[in-house]
Amino acid sequence: MYQAVAPVLSLINSLGLYIHIPFCLKKCNYCDFYSVPVNDIIKRDYSKTLIREIKQWGGRLSRPIDTVYFGGGTPSLMAKYLPEIMKEVRNNFTLLENAEITMEMNPADNSQEVLEYALKSGVNRLSIGAQSGDDNELEILGRRHTAKQTVDTVKAARKLGFKNISLDIMLGLPHSNEATLKKSLEFITDLKPEHISAYILKIEENTVFGSIYNTLNLPDEDKVAEQYLQMCEYLKNMGYEHYEISNFAKANKESRHNLKYWELKDYLGLGPAAHSFIGGKRFYYSENLTEFITGASPLPDGDGGSEDERIMLGLRLNKGVEIAPNPQLLNKCKSLEENGLLTLKENLITLTVKGFLVSNSIITEILECIE
Ligand code: SF4
Repeated sequence: MYQAVAPVLSLINSLGLYIHIPFCLKKCNYCDFYSVPVNDIIKRDYSKTLIREIKQWGGRLSRPIDTVYFGGGTPSLMAKYLPEIMKEVRNNFTLLENAEITMEMNPADNSQEVLEYALKSGVNRLSIGAQSGDDNELEILGRRHTAKQTVDTVKAARKLGFKNISLDIMLGLPHSNEATLKKSLEFITDLKPEHISAYILKIEENTVFGSIYNTLNLPDEDKVAEQYLQMCEYLKNMGYEHYEISNFAKANKESRHNLKYWELKDYLGLGPAAHSFIGGKRFYYSENLTEFITGASPLPDGDGGSEDERIMLGLRLNKGVEIAPNPQLLNKCKSLEENGLLTLKENLITLTVKGFLVSNSIITEILECIE
């Protein structure tokens, strides 16, 4: 069935498994991800479909799985089905004993019940969409939860024994400034998460924010840059390692699954809009729930893993990327280094925090020097 897009593989290196849950009860004002409304019948059908796909792919890919990531959408809406889905993952793949199993969750979703299902299914890492510690900001964003629900969710998770929790925070929000960000950072770090993902608000066209862009009172680019630098400094002082442009972790708590994306390791994505990268090939399921449920095959998305891609993704990481130097590249790196944007040690190029802020243009300049 999948012959056209992925060769039969039986490599010994491990694989990441991404399972997309494309449901949201309410669309957040800034979000343009693919997600649709859901009811109990759709949830049941979707669970059956995922199990069908897990069986098919498990029979095809004889590779151990070392990370599973339930992302969305809102995976916590499908928590009841997770134990069964994970049972089939274990039955059809070799799930390594120390596998990292993450579930994204919305603090609004009856946390105790959701957490118990997550625990039962073997989830050992939670990624909780906190976004802000201020209820006004959460309301402006169109989130379904309050700051208190985030606190309650983290407390309930700790009580059940979850030892690896990631919280999301957003920067550059309407009406935000250094003081409001400080408040959110204190809120987030008071909860002592092992990992923090930080995202700068980007206004997308087909969203509520896109339609009222001019009324949003957004901080300008320089102010957003200041917020980013303020956050990096604050989290560094709180003992978090800034291991990727948008991600911070306590020692050994980096997201092993997300590292696969940046390090060009193989992963299989199941669900509408889910992407995969296996054996140098990229492929994806189209953004259509009905097609996925009725058995549509994934679509090819070309070759992956080129040198440009390796550099582009590698420069997102604080460990940097090795590049064979040439005179033009060395000159370019020297001038970027003088501006405090990167460091060059032998063949290893690493962006600084200031460099992370303008990573897209630095990457373009570097790629121009090696073509
Ligand atoms: S941000 Fe998350 S919860 Fe909100 S609409 Fe997008 S996917 Fe759904």
